[in-house]
Amino acid sequence: SDHALEYPVSPADMDWAKFYPEYVSESTSSEEANSSQPRPLKQDVEIVDIGCGYGGLLVALSPILPDKLMLGLEIRSQVTAFVQERIYALRKQSPGAYQNAACIRANSMKFLPNFFRKAQLAKIFICFPDPHFKARKHKARIVSTTLNSEYAFALRPGGVIYTITDVEALHEWMVEHLEAHPAFERVADEEVESDPCVAVMRAETEEGKKVARNKGLKFVALFRRREDPPW
Ligand code: SAM
Repeated sequence: SDHALEYPVSPADMDWAKFYPEYVSESTSSEEANSSQPRPLKQDVEIVDIGCGYGGLLVALSPILPDKLMLGLEIRSQVTAFVQERIYALRKQSPGAYQNAACIRANSMKFLPNFFRKAQLAKIFICFPDPHFKARKHKARIVSTTLNSEYAFALRPGGVIYTITDVEALHEWMVEHLEAHPAFERVADEEVESDPCVAVMRAETEEGKKVARNKGLKFVALFRRREDPPW
């Protein structure tokens, strides 16, 4: 339950330093050193993998986007610990690499605005989310009218939500809900196919690999955050 989840009161209260130690800002004025505020990073987290599972996407994306900080959000504590260990081991094995990837335990359905400021993110990945097939469980889906507004808040104009699933009905659900949202427009197929992140999402997620072994289909849809209207 939530009382076991740690989350900041607001994005300014989030202490990122332990997750991205190589990115901690070096400017340590005495004022900053004495402050109780968390040590700031040189740059913000810009990429989020919601329900990152075992971290396949993060680990594959880290060297492809080496200048971007990326974060996996995972609700299961043991799975989170696994991903943290995985990244830690990769950092040790390849000094200098994988410093831009991290994973935290979080319920993305509840606490996204606690972690990210408005327009902070460039990309949000939603890869093979739990389908929650039964109608009475649909409210547990990670794409919904309410949550889409939170994604729209955290994403900057021009930013992209990436979705992939092997469940066609869930794909249709995600497309329907994201297309209906005024902040999002669907990205055209050509652009989807030429985006290197899409190949990673298909091939490197643990679920993507499982679906490939079972020769299943994968449905991909991307949505761009529109500019806010001028009022
Ligand atoms: N994205 C990974 C992949 O493609 O291999 C894992 C997909 S797995 C089917 C769905 C994951 O989402 C699980 O690891 C689950 O624990 C996580 N999850 C479900 N609800 C969540 C929530 N509210 N916040 C964070 N993670 C969640």
